[in-house]
Amino acid sequence: MRLRDKLVAPRIMRVFLLTLLVGIMMLAGLGVGAGADRVPDSFEDARQAMVARQLQRRDITDPRVLVAMGTVPRHRFVPGALASRAYGDYPLPIGDDQTISQPYIVALMTQWAEVAPGDRVLEVGTGSGYQAAVLAELTDQVWSIELLPELARQAAASLQEMGYGRVQVRSGDGYQGWPEAAPFDAILVTAAAPRVPPALAAQLKEGGRLVIPLGPPGGVQTLKRYRKTQGKLVEEASLAVRFVPLVRPPALKAGPGADPPGATMPRPGPGAPTQ
Ligand code: SAH
Repeated sequence: MRLRDKLVAPRIMRVFLLTLLVGIMMLAGLGVGAGADRVPDSFEDARQAMVARQLQRRDITDPRVLVAMGTVPRHRFVPGALASRAYGDYPLPIGDDQTISQPYIVALMTQWAEVAPGDRVLEVGTGSGYQAAVLAELTDQVWSIELLPELARQAAASLQEMGYGRVQVRSGDGYQGWPEAAPFDAILVTAAAPRVPPALAAQLKEGGRLVIPLGPPGGVQTLKRYRKTQGKLVEEASLAVRFVPLVRPPALKAGPGADPPGATMPRPGPGAPTQ
């Protein structure tokens, strides 16, 4: 065996064994799940290829996350005209200048959130509802907030239709979190904020994970994973990314606790490249 083969062989074995494990889990119906129908659809092959090529070949190793990504019908969360591109390695527009993240980013955020069955999870930025559906495959306690009422309405309808009706969606400002449902084991923010919103930090349990992209709109942003340890957020992982901004609703900009001038988030421009 040449040196290169020696290095490559264990990696191939790992991917093979993981694929086998995920296959067995899928057959055994271990996806937990809020009840999406498991009837194979015409995108089954494209979805499994996405899991193998975009996720397993990178660093998505959590078998439950791989099963969830191989189960949720992503093509049903994108506009009909884009269904054939739903499993591509890129984000897609979902209307209202917003985007559904690239599958890898959804999987990475989910893996970083370490969601166990029964965990209480908050998503900020429902968008299409796709990330919420992936989370709902891992726990039956998911809350999701979306600023734009029309997107929230559509996402709630999609989730209901696909068997994820237990996900609670509401339209509102994610900077405030969801105090009535707190505290959470994990919080995922799917739009970039200038800094961690204090309400979200407060609504995280001790030991809880916060996954959030931080940075200016259109500029360098960093996806961060924090864990609440002895009441403080400790940074554990980060990755350079691009997301649409977490928008400050106009009515709140002048309110108490608002950002100082210059730190508020403008609405995203059309076609802004995002994850
Ligand atoms: N997670 C989504 C994609 C989210 S795109 C999916 O899987 O499809 C980011 C979303 O955050 C957009 O829908 C945007 O409207 C929403 N958003 C922006 N600012 C927000 C705020 N302050 N509160 C809640 N949602 C917000």
